[in-house]
Amino acid sequence: ASQPNSAKSKKMAPKKKIAIMTSGGDSPGMNGVVRACVRMAIHLGCDAYCIYEGYEGLVRGGNLIRRMEWHDVRGWLSEGGTLIGTARCMAFYERPGRLAAARNLIKEGIDALIICGGDGSLTGADRFRSEWPSLLEELESNGEYTSAQLAPYRHLNIVGLVGSIDNDLSGTDATIGCYSALARICSAIDLIEATASSHSRAFVVEVMGRHCGWLALMAGVATGADFIFIPEKPREDNWREEMCGVVEYHRKLGKRKTIVIIAEGALDREGNKITPEMVKDLLADKDGLGLDTRITTLGHVQRGGTAVAYDRMLATLQGVEAVKAVLEATPETPTSVITINENKIVRKNLMEAVRETKLVAKAIEAQDFDRAMGLRDTEFSEQYRSFMMTTAVQMNQEIMLPENERMKIGFINVGAPAGGMNAAVRAGVAYCLSRGHEPIAIYNGFAGFARHHGDDPLGAVRPFNWLEVDGWASKGGSEIGTNRELPSESGMDTIAELIGQYKFDGLFIIGGFEAFHAVCQLRKAREQYPSLCIPITLLPATISNNVPGTEYSLGSDTCLNELVEYCDKIKQSASATRRRVFVIETQGGRSGYVATLGGLGVGASAVYTPEEGVSLEMLAADVRHLKSVFAEDRGQSRAGRLILINEKASKVYNARLIADILRAEAHGRFESREGIPGHMQQGGVPSPMDRCRAVRLAIRCIQHLEQYGRNGHDRIKKDPLSASVIGIKGASVVFTPVEIAEEEETDWPNRRPKAAFWVGMKEIGDILGGRPQHDIPE
Ligand code: ATP
Repeated sequence: ASQPNSAKSKKMAPKKKIAIMTSGGDSPGMNGVVRACVRMAIHLGCDAYCIYEGYEGLVRGGNLIRRMEWHDVRGWLSEGGTLIGTARCMAFYERPGRLAAARNLIKEGIDALIICGGDGSLTGADRFRSEWPSLLEELESNGEYTSAQLAPYRHLNIVGLVGSIDNDLSGTDATIGCYSALARICSAIDLIEATASSHSRAFVVEVMGRHCGWLALMAGVATGADFIFIPEKPREDNWREEMCGVVEYHRKLGKRKTIVIIAEGALDREGNKITPEMVKDLLADKDGLGLDTRITTLGHVQRGGTAVAYDRMLATLQGVEAVKAVLEATPETPTSVITINENKIVRKNLMEAVRETKLVAKAIEAQDFDRAMGLRDTEFSEQYRSFMMTTAVQMNQEIMLPENERMKIGFINVGAPAGGMNAAVRAGVAYCLSRGHEPIAIYNGFAGFARHHGDDPLGAVRPFNWLEVDGWASKGGSEIGTNRELPSESGMDTIAELIGQYKFDGLFIIGGFEAFHAVCQLRKAREQYPSLCIPITLLPATISNNVPGTEYSLGSDTCLNELVEYCDKIKQSASATRRRVFVIETQGGRSGYVATLGGLGVGASAVYTPEEGVSLEMLAADVRHLKSVFAEDRGQSRAGRLILINEKASKVYNARLIADILRAEAHGRFESREGIPGHMQQGGVPSPMDRCRAVRLAIRCIQHLEQYGRNGHDRIKKDPLSASVIGIKGASVVFTPVEIAEEEETDWPNRRPKAAFWVGMKEIGDILGGRPQHDIPE
């Protein structure tokens, strides 16, 4: 009864025996993969197996290959490392090892294999599959099996999943575990920064990445480091002078801390290793900068611990996709690997991805660094440019625009604070300064603009001070202040007049649904107010992730991390005390995104969203399900259960009422409580993903404004893109005119996009949580 869906859904024939294994270095999220694969396989009527200890288990067989039941993977989402073990296996490099592996699979009747690991593991997988027919031949010719016995195994389905903290596989934007590793690195650097500032010290931080600089690069972008070294892009031959020049410049501006991030595999242009000691000696050189310099090697803490929300989502969605891919594969289809591009899960050719990955290492070896950079995905090179533009600001005169193309750009935050708002402002300001534009802060939203103008001693409109802004990379909240008020509420006359008075050539707005609404209003008011005929662009930032025109808003990742962390703790307490169900109320406005993705990340037993609503039937079905779950695992585990409910899912049923209903209906079989994390969900320090995306998208926004130049007024009304929202949609980053977004994509009464791109994830969450299927109320 704990997987009530499975009985109904054995529609997807043929039944298979699917085995899952983890291999190579462990990474956070691998357990989420195993959980998703096991449960999805069972849900689709297949048998699920785990192979313990990676290829070692495949070669040795016996009790290292185990049948898995639904409840065997309970609670695995929040566990770090890999619970089924991993190993480096020499035997699998040799044919006899692989023959033994084939024998073991056939012995167990397994006909499909899902492997989660790095490029080595995936290479091994592909080799195994291509060799499979000849391995069967050998088993037949040496008399172990007859042709008839082998008939059902003629074709072995293999699907790869990329589990690695390095994010080193070509063809995917993220590997399972890389954002967790990045989170560990960034929180370490955030801590180090306080000490660095206090003592005015320099720190050289070494991070993992022998052939891949992703971690070093993204950590540099997220923390606003002074200098980075990555294998794919060695600095010029004069890197010593370059680094000292940048650091000296920052110190002259008044910076009290210096952070240099170096990837393990950092090289110079001749292919010689650059070590943290070399960097330290330079920074500390008495005849040069003479900085008090320390080295911090982060080492294995980077692998550590529980997966961040994003990795749990990736592990779950990709695990489910892998099972589907296994069932859909034919002898003709090439082995596939499951990847993600921006926001889209995609199947790709495994061998091509591995081949390209190997080419990067080869290009680095051959010192063909342009090629190495070119082989990384586009986000990688874009973030590299972002890093360069936001660090050595105003040092590079080559990218300055001529005087007559420079613009005065107003920055404004609208709505509730969201993680990444400050990072976006910082990056926007840095980019403006490096191009010669004049970035101006408008404090406290439209309300501040309209009302505090003049009577505030500091004024509501002030140029940015770069030294101050430079320290905002990792700050939560909104340093320039944010406010929910719409321009119409502040007075469109006043706003239009002020924009004219300050001679703004463009507006860069960062915020949530109100910000979107504000841009719609400003665009419409252009007819009446010529001063509003300037380009306006919106970078969505809200934990609710409910802005039309995008599938991702800044702050939503931070929010999910907070929520998942909160739920993990609650769940622990629930299992430690007694059998207990916690009903957690999440934020998210009228969008069920946060509740759904939070539920996916913690393995909730049920999620209630405003889109679906809550009905008595649903509650009754969920109560029945929980009763049977607790009845079943009597004695086995005291695991707590979680239910997530969005704050606006129902006018009648709230977290407390549902907890009360559950308690009354449980008749002592289990306990129930409500929990409300509230504003904690806005997060303290923003997540690295929100920080990195803030930088990338903010720069894109200013570049977009830049196209219109200073006197683009005539073009403005004719060009729908002159008032637009930037977003991630499927596999790409796009600008959508608000004119179109407001008419075609917005559900105005519910303040959310018409289409919820995440509905499929809701379904997956319900399936993997074992939730009974129910009819959605009208
Ligand atoms: P990481 O990203 O942590 O390095 P990885 O999967 O690349 O992970 P490897 O040590 O390269 O880690 O590979 C893991 C295992 O995969 C090896 O111990 C070996 O058993 C198998 N393997 C790797 N390459 C091959 C290959 N060319 N042929 C057969 N088996 C291989």
